[in-house]
Amino acid sequence: MMNQAKQLVNTQRTFFNTGRTKNVEYRIDALQRLRKGIEKYQQRILDALHTDLNKSAAEAYGSEIRIVLGELDFTLEHLQEWAAPCSVPTSSIMPDAVSTIYPEPYGVALIIAPWNYPFQLAFGPLIGAIAAGNCAVIKPSELTPATSHLIHDLIQEVYPQEYIAVMEGEVETSTALLNEKFDYIFFTGSTGVGRIVMKAAAEHLIPVTLELGGKSPAIVHQDADLQLAAQRIVRGKFLNAGQTCVAPDYLLVHEQVHDQLVEQIRAEISEKFGANVMENASFPHIVNARNFDRLSAFLTNGTAVIGGRSNRDQLMIEPTVLDDISWDSPVMQEEIFGPILPVFTYNDLNPMLDEIVRRPKPLALYLFTESEALQEQVLTQVSFGGGCINETLSHMTSHYLPFGGVGESGMGSYHGKQSFEVFSHHKSILKRSK
Ligand code: NAD
Repeated sequence: MMNQAKQLVNTQRTFFNTGRTKNVEYRIDALQRLRKGIEKYQQRILDALHTDLNKSAAEAYGSEIRIVLGELDFTLEHLQEWAAPCSVPTSSIMPDAVSTIYPEPYGVALIIAPWNYPFQLAFGPLIGAIAAGNCAVIKPSELTPATSHLIHDLIQEVYPQEYIAVMEGEVETSTALLNEKFDYIFFTGSTGVGRIVMKAAAEHLIPVTLELGGKSPAIVHQDADLQLAAQRIVRGKFLNAGQTCVAPDYLLVHEQVHDQLVEQIRAEISEKFGANVMENASFPHIVNARNFDRLSAFLTNGTAVIGGRSNRDQLMIEPTVLDDISWDSPVMQEEIFGPILPVFTYNDLNPMLDEIVRRPKPLALYLFTESEALQEQVLTQVSFGGGCINETLSHMTSHYLPFGGVGESGMGSYHGKQSFEVFSHHKSILKRSK
């Protein structure tokens, strides 16, 4: 395994040093080929996501393929302009000089992907790596094997190994790759493994982006439009059965609107997934038995006011809302990453915000209120990766909003132009006349 990793990095470095990937036309052609490859493989992508996670075709297309194609098109539209050297002013003490910033690729990048959006989270970073002119090795998650194989086959069909390659496998494969001297590491996954990746990167002083997880709160204040809040929380929480890094992890709701919101959430779940979700064949599954068991243990925390049933044979947990939760409950000690929503009630939001601030910085935060003063207060008081007001998830679908975490939810960001930036070194040059 180690030899294979070493050989791959050497082969890619030799290819990178030919300079071919530095040509912007070459990169544009590579991105166009990727687009054609995805179109050709579309049915197989949908099948793989169905096999691995029971994602319906509509959900798989909307939350994986469409996002990748959108990023591809946006990048193709802007790459010439992003890749061009940028002239900047020179300080007045040196009037005979000009200054220019040259974006240049790092070299050979490693992309390690998780299983929850196994297609999107491998190809999203790849678009940035290619756009910036790098070679890249992708290590997909072993927990979604059908998608991992398809990523391998698609990439092998579209690109020579010396340019873009996929190395499939489990932890040993990741470890072998992390021993090599890449020029950039882009990791998406858990905070725990993020620490391992950063330690390995430190050995060779490799710059990293870490897209990690955490517990993202959603707050519903007493003046919120409750029907809208319920709709948007249900969509954000139960997409992919809650296995979404930016899903609302838990809910803080003002006591005056608690009962009404819970009833709206109940109605919305029924509207979206049917009166009996256990019989809904297209509700996504929990990825494996280990995660199913971990999640099942939470079902007895507090009181299940909605849902609470599960089926181990089908790895199915129905959308569940837990009341009577305390900050010490087991469900509040780790990222849930499943269709279980604990609810806290408040009459004064301030102690709740203090509690959020005391805990690791969330990847996302969602606030439902019309009060601009409260919006301002929460945005200035709480540090978190990014989020939405009166919405969930959608901040991560905009090409114009860099997406990433802060503190234990990650470092660095990507999407849109930022994906190009993150895989580029900015070489600053001052040129003086004789
Ligand atoms: P994970 O950290 O277990 O695995 C991610 C990748 O790391 C996989 O390819 C895996 O093979 C590899 N890996 C696992 N153990 C390793 C080790 N000891 N050494 C080296 N590599 C190792 O994460 P996961 O379970 O696949 O994904 C779920 C987590 O990812 C959640 O915490 C979620 O919030 C987070 N996530 C974050 C984002 C984001 O954009 N911020 C997106 C999706 C998922």
